[in-house]
Amino acid sequence: MKILQDLSYDELCSLVQDMGERPFRARQIYEGLMQGKKISELPVPAAMRGALLAEYADEPVKIREVFTAEDGTKKYLFELTDGNLIEGVLMSYRYGNTQCVSTQVGCRMGCKFCASTLQGRLRDLTAGEILSEILAVNRSEGGTLKDRKVTNVVLMGSGEPFDNYGAVVKFLRNLTAEGGVHISARNVSLSTCGLVPEMRKFAEEGIPLNLTVSLHATTDGERRRTMPIANRYSIREILDACSYYFEKTGRRYIFEYSLIEGENADMVHAEQLASLLKGRPCHVNLIRLNPVKERNLKGTDERTAQAFLKELTSRGISATLRRSMGSDIGGACGQLRANYLGREDPQHKGEEDT
Ligand code: SAH
Repeated sequence: MKILQDLSYDELCSLVQDMGERPFRARQIYEGLMQGKKISELPVPAAMRGALLAEYADEPVKIREVFTAEDGTKKYLFELTDGNLIEGVLMSYRYGNTQCVSTQVGCRMGCKFCASTLQGRLRDLTAGEILSEILAVNRSEGGTLKDRKVTNVVLMGSGEPFDNYGAVVKFLRNLTAEGGVHISARNVSLSTCGLVPEMRKFAEEGIPLNLTVSLHATTDGERRRTMPIANRYSIREILDACSYYFEKTGRRYIFEYSLIEGENADMVHAEQLASLLKGRPCHVNLIRLNPVKERNLKGTDERTAQAFLKELTSRGISATLRRSMGSDIGGACGQLRANYLGREDPQHKGEEDT
């Protein structure tokens, strides 16, 4: 079954024309879909719904379960049309709600601390499936197109966004398009483990979002211990690609650094990180690693994390330590975890001061 939500408004117009239908139907279908409606609920003649349902999935992403934490964080379990399950998280902040979306079923990057890669990558999501995660949550939260309940999006769920490049870029174009969900690229963050060629290519797409890179180490040798992708690209190449992104978009970039006991969290690492990043238009998000039960890596204690933060900031690096939220519902589901779950969102602060 194909996914109708894959289509941009223009593509939908062509489809409606090919079906021999009147042009205004395209707008009706588009608005219905962007409100999270199923095809079977669209306000078009039954014959047209039937023709669409013969080819397209009625509801590509179904909410199977919702878990709500004491702090209001919600974790969603979604079911895809082939029975695969993916997860998403919705976090409330003063300025709105941020949804974390998955881009693949599983992941093949193999990071040693991450739960989403344990079984490898089952398949890529399509652009419309990624968008449908948001459409489903906005609707279930009582949001509409005018009054959205999802105001910010982070691509930090399962999957490596740049390992599914085409679908992710298409999703981002549809997400930010006027007349649709229309979330500004400034309110979107994409996190990558550092696929350098795709980072450079993305700099030229004209989508000025918050580019976030999972660094987690200060030398290539140490990075290779936890992140296999470090065998392909060096930290130097990653930093150069970040500079290129800044040059093309004017957007500062962000590094994720998960503090792992006995691995990357000593004072010497803080010094090395500061000297790597000194003078760069960037921000560092620190988080204490969430233990994944299948892995034997542990996060640092709070004091070590605070000391690491202090060392970085005293050396002139913009950095924040994020708090875990939603842990009582397993909001820390290994990967859909906590580094974006802090009350203070530096990416948002970044928007205010740029
Ligand atoms: N594949 C992308 C995005 C998905 S993961 C990437 O690698 O950036 C989002 C973030 O969570 C990444 O920074 C990832 O390294 C981090 N992460 C994964 N498992 C974690 C864990 N157990 N504790 C803390 N952070 C984790």
